[in-house]
Amino acid sequence: MKISGECFCGQVSYSINGPLQDARSCHCSRCRKAFSSQASAYALVDPENFRWETGEDLLTLFQNQHGFGLKFCSLCGSTLCGVFQGIVHGITLGCVNGDPDVEIGRHIYVGSKAGWEVMPQNVLQFEEAAPIDA
Ligand SMILES: [Zn+2]
Ligand SMILES: [Zn+2]
Repeated sequence: MKISGECFCGQVSYSINGPLQDARSCHCSRCRKAFSSQASAYALVDPENFRWETGEDLLTLFQNQHGFGLKFCSLCGSTLCGVFQGIVHGITLGCVNGDPDVEIGRHIYVGSKAGWEVMPQNVLQFEEAAPIDA
């Protein structure tokens, strides 16, 4: 399966030659800031399958002291991927084009969600980390 994605302005694009894995949404206060949204929407990729197609030189990396970072387009601000120690770890679902054939499997840190967010019904949710994330 071939998946593509791009930022809001379209200058940065990528392709993934394989499936997305482990799609999840985190509602913690840090993810709200990092994703400028009510929650993260993120899925893992096999780094071997991931390739920047255009605009890689426009990306800016924001990295924490643990070596985990996010790369965003310096022109439009879209956050495209997460990196761990310099290697692409996963992608933000919002920048994927079309239907990548995954669904968010779990909502985590719902216990610290924003007061203004109304959770959808019938989703798998955890107050903090899911057992699989711990
Ligand atoms: Zn852009
Ligand atoms: Zn989070």
